[in-house]
This record gives sequence, C-alpha cells and structure tokens, in this order.
Amino acid sequence: MGPDPGVSQLAAAFIGLGAMGAPMAGHLARRGYLKAVWNRSPDRAEAFTQENNVIALKHLRDLPRAAKIIALCVSRDEDVLMVIESLLGGLSAHHLIIDFSTVSPETAQLAAKKVRACGADFLDAPVTGGVEGATQGTLTIMVGGRPAALDSIRPLLDSLATKIVHLGEVGMGQRAKAVNQVLCAGINEAVTEALAFGSHLGLAMEQVIEAISGGAAGNWFLDHRGKSMIEGRFSPGFKLALHLKDLEIVAAMAQELQITLPLSEATREHYVELLQQGYGDDDISALYRLKRPS
Ligand code: NAP
Repeated sequence: MGPDPGVSQLAAAFIGLGAMGAPMAGHLARRGYLKAVWNRSPDRAEAFTQENNVIALKHLRDLPRAAKIIALCVSRDEDVLMVIESLLGGLSAHHLIIDFSTVSPETAQLAAKKVRACGADFLDAPVTGGVEGATQGTLTIMVGGRPAALDSIRPLLDSLATKIVHLGEVGMGQRAKAVNQVLCAGINEAVTEALAFGSHLGLAMEQVIEAISGGAAGNWFLDHRGKSMIEGRFSPGFKLALHLKDLEIVAAMAQELQITLPLSEATREHYVELLQQGYGDDDISALYRLKRPS
C-alpha cells in the first residue's frame, strides 16, 4: 500500500525494533508515516534504515523534534519507564505517545501521568497476533486512553492491525492484554500436553495436527507452532522470558484481587524451570521440552 495522503499530520517515530517492533515500524515506513527510529542496540536501527527511508537517531531525547507521534515496543516495564523518562524533556501538547509493549497497568498509568504532566497524551496499546500478525499487519490492538487521542491516529494504526478495540482509560488495554496472556498460557499447556501425549502414543504427529486442526480443538497456536514444536524447533516467535514477565504481572494482579489462577501459576513454574535450563530466549512452545518423550 502507498503513502497515506494525511501523512504530514501523522509523522511518527518508533522505539524498539525487536521481533514485533521492526515489522510494525516497517508498515509505518511503507505508508509514509515513519520519520525516525531508535533502538538500544544501534546495529538494529542501522539495518532498519538501510531498508526504509527513515533516519536512526542516536539519542532518545531527540525523537520529539522528529515526530509528533512516538510509538514504542520494548520488552519490560522498566524499559518503558526509562524510554518515557528520556523523552519527557522534549514533549509538548502536540505529542502523543503510544506504547505497544506488554507491561503492567500501573506502569501504563505512571507513564501516562508523566507524559500528561508535559501537556502531551499517552495511550497504552498492547497487541496480540504474534510476529506473524506484526509482519502481515493483522494485529489486534487493545487500547486504553482518551478516545480523541485514539481517533487522531487511527489511520496509522490501521496499517498495523485489523482490529482496534478501545477498552477505557489508560491501563485498560494492559488489563485486557493480561486476560489474553492467561489464555495463551492455558493454550500452550493444552497444546504441548496433547502433542506430547500423541508422541508418546507413537502417532505420526504431523498427520495428527492436520487432522485435529480443523475441528473443535483447532487453534492459532496449534496452527502456527504445532509442526515446529514436534520437529524440536523453538525459535521465537514470542520469547518464553517475555511470557514469564507477563505471567508475573498477572500473578500480582491476581494477588491484589485475592483470587487464584492455577493454570497460569503452573505455566509460570514451568517457564521458571525452562529459564533455569537456559531456554528463556526460546519461543514459548519450548514448553514442549518438559513434556515430549525423551
Ligand atoms: P524482542 O524481540 O526481545 O525485542 C525487544 C525490544 O526492546 C528490542 O528492540 C530491544 O532492544 C528493546 N529493549 C529491551 N530492553 C531495553 C531497554 N532496557 N532499553 C531500551 N530498549 C530495550 O521482543 P518482542 O517480541 O519484540 O516484544 C516486545 C514487546 O511486545 C514485549 O513487551 C512483548 O511482551 C510484547 N509482545 C510480543 C509478542 C511476540 O509474539 N513476540 C506478541 C505480543 C506482544 P535491543 O535490540 O537492544 O535488544
């Protein structure tokens, strides 16, 4: 798709060119929205500028001069807060920060408070759909923040997502994403357990996956990770250490509510075990390692 005609009002910068951020920023660049990028490791930013007509800035503090819309997709809560802190000096009433990272609702609210104190605005906008969704521009975005702020950048978000759902004030996007991550944990447990069971039975698992994927047990994770899992390939995808980070956020939320989430808790323990074995950078389907026949 070519450049958007309203692009000049929607000049954007992107921070965090990882597995999700790079393809997302790529869509914005191709539509003509993206002006500048920043990445902690400069080589990733340089590689991005060689493929896209944008500049890589050395310092975060320079981004507000390059663009009114500043998007970020970094790993963890502390990374988001570090980025926000570095941007604050350059923010004014014209700026809108949109955070696609998955973090706690409290972090989103704290970031929004700091950004709004400068006169700018903030949306929490965690995404789902995996690296495949980021690459194809078919993500779902769960947004918290002022509706007018969301409406002002809808054309830009439309290049990233097929579904954009507004859930309320800042923090609500992250709450919805936490629900998503609980479900992903349960699906990962179910799929890895079932496929390991089939392997123990001595079945031809590729054919089993083909047979069951079209029925009531079919799901995205089985379709996208089933085959690679039984072949012993666990390249990310979604890093196990990052889903563990999400389940720690979920655990804190459950504790606050005085409820238990046994399935997520079991997954969290499994991930800790895998992390201790050195598999934190594997895809979450590496949970299969704990269950497959030895
Ligand atoms: P990733 O491939 O590990 O990339 C992480 C990005 O964050 C990199 O650009 C990294 O920079 C940057 N970063 C990490 N720590 C930083 C710090 N201290 N300061 C500045 N930048 C820092 O992770 P990802 O899969 O893209 O995930 C990014 C976010 O999206 C996470 O919150 C994740 O939970 C969420 N998410 C991921 C998926 C998925 O399927 N992968 C799906 C939905 C949501 P370097 O290049 O220097 O390491």
